[in-house]
Amino acid sequence: MVSEYPPSIDQLARSLKDTGLPHPLLVDAARLAISEGNSEDFEKRARNIAESMASNLLTDVINATGVLLHTNMGRAPVDVSTSSTRYTNLELDLLTGDRGSRQDRAPQLLAKACGAEAAMVVNNCASAVMLVLAALAGGESVAVSRGELVEIGGGFRIPEVITQSGAKLVEVGTTNRTRVKDFAKAVNKENVVLNLSVHQSNYRIEGFTESVKISELAELDVPVVADIGSGLLDAACPWLESGPPAWLRNEPAARQTLEAGADLVTFSGDKLLGGPQVGVIAGKADLVKACSSHPLARALRPGGLVLNSLEKIALSYLDRDGNAIPFWRMATLPIDELRSRAEEINPLWVADTFSTPGGGTLPGVEIPSVGLVVPGDYSESLRLNDPPVICRVVDNSTICDLRTVHPNDDGVVGAALEAAVS
Ligand SMILES: *Cc1c(COP(=O)(O)O)cnc(C)c1O
Repeated sequence: MVSEYPPSIDQLARSLKDTGLPHPLLVDAARLAISEGNSEDFEKRARNIAESMASNLLTDVINATGVLLHTNMGRAPVDVSTSSTRYTNLELDLLTGDRGSRQDRAPQLLAKACGAEAAMVVNNCASAVMLVLAALAGGESVAVSRGELVEIGGGFRIPEVITQSGAKLVEVGTTNRTRVKDFAKAVNKENVVLNLSVHQSNYRIEGFTESVKISELAELDVPVVADIGSGLLDAACPWLESGPPAWLRNEPAARQTLEAGADLVTFSGDKLLGGPQVGVIAGKADLVKACSSHPLARALRPGGLVLNSLEKIALSYLDRDGNAIPFWRMATLPIDELRSRAEEINPLWVADTFSTPGGGTLPGVEIPSVGLVVPGDYSESLRLNDPPVICRVVDNSTICDLRTVHPNDDGVVGAALEAAVS
């Protein structure tokens, strides 16, 4: 109990020790509570502040939004297994005892899974695009269709990325129609050394449109780089027993884009690949080598934890085991299975709903799903549950979509919803 009025900051901080936060943070909480003044109960107020600090630390949450790749929740859920007591062979070749490369494992496994000669991994797709441009076109000109000078959320704008890479942008064609001869002219007349094709990802131009195929670009004399963004490895989805789901539509895939003639593809690890946040550069070995020997490569390299998690995903692809990849397992869950899980929780709450891929991929795509629906907005009380349950609110109804919830968490979601409504 703190008896003085106002209490000493140090004493107040010490009284909050049981929250588990380090002392300097408790001092901040105590100082804030006292600086707010006129509180009858500083201890209660300071405890409140400390508890909200603790609950805002990085923690597991249950995603009941039905958005499979939710940027606010780290896009794809992934598995990392490490020992806290041992080291790893991150850059050690165990056969020879020599120094190895962190790029020798997961990236090469992914290259194999998409039919590329070689691959390397950086922090995200934005850095992959920047590194490719810096390494292959730094100080030179890059041609991009005016229809593909896109912004992909969070400040990734193609013209700005090109500027940052040190390359010069040559815009070709028009917003709605670009032809291969526009690129040919840029290559011949404007000394363009690389043609860049960018997947429009999160928007569509419809109507009177025309765009250039990778196979057409491949006929020209300079390398073609395709930023496909989402990281679908193979349009045939050999890791799914039932083949490609209908909602994948015309999403570009790494294997087919390379087969069509792209020299390099770049894509994210945490979109349709279903892995951790990385950017993959895959394709011709000499071009990948040029990227990996550029000075920026060191600045953009991922850490061992990320490569650990990516390696598991890559092995699952090579095993054709989509069920071992949480994103694909959830994305392809049959409706009947979701319905019986929902009925098990509470038959009165079962309702049809739609999940979405999210992550800026496949705009407009809806995947039929089943969830728990109750009238009223209970999002706050679910969010403050331990563990937090993140739901969707539509027309003042709370929806918990079970597609993005692991079956082990069904009970938690049911209990949290029960507690919220009663
Ligand atoms: C999402 C996306 C990016 C950015 O990827 P991050 O991994 O989030 O950096 C770049 N290009 C395309 C085409 C994308 O769809």
